[in-house]
Amino acid sequence: MSLRRAVAERAHGRCEYCQCPEAFSSTTYCLEHIEPLALGGLTSIENLAFACQGCNGFKGDKTAVWDAVTRRAVRLFHPRRDRWSRHFAWSEQGLEMVPKTLIARATIITLKLNRPALRNLRGVLMQSMIHPPA
Ligand SMILES: [Zn+2]
Repeated sequence: MSLRRAVAERAHGRCEYCQCPEAFSSTTYCLEHIEPLALGGLTSIENLAFACQGCNGFKGDKTAVWDAVTRRAVRLFHPRRDRWSRHFAWSEQGLEMVPKTLIARATIITLKLNRPALRNLRGVLMQSMIHPPA
């Protein structure tokens, strides 16, 4: 099995950040280096996340960001080490990701995880019972 296929299957075909399925994206998802190559991250299955082009682009090579409220650096969500449900929840209508932690808040802001196109897609996918993910 190819590395791409293994990473995609592990993620159930969904972006590991915004949770949207690749099957409903107009662009091919990528293998995102959680710890960037530039910072010594490896191209290994433990360091790769399945990510849509949008999330991959907004994350870039960031692993932590400055939090203006707490005035300290906050690391971003790490799909391999962190459990999604500990950090995030869905809003009542299912269109938005709601942070449970500082890590989640920083990740939602940095990766723009509630951007309009994602909210629109989630709304459409809800009608087909494809969103939110089980
Ligand atoms: Zn995404």
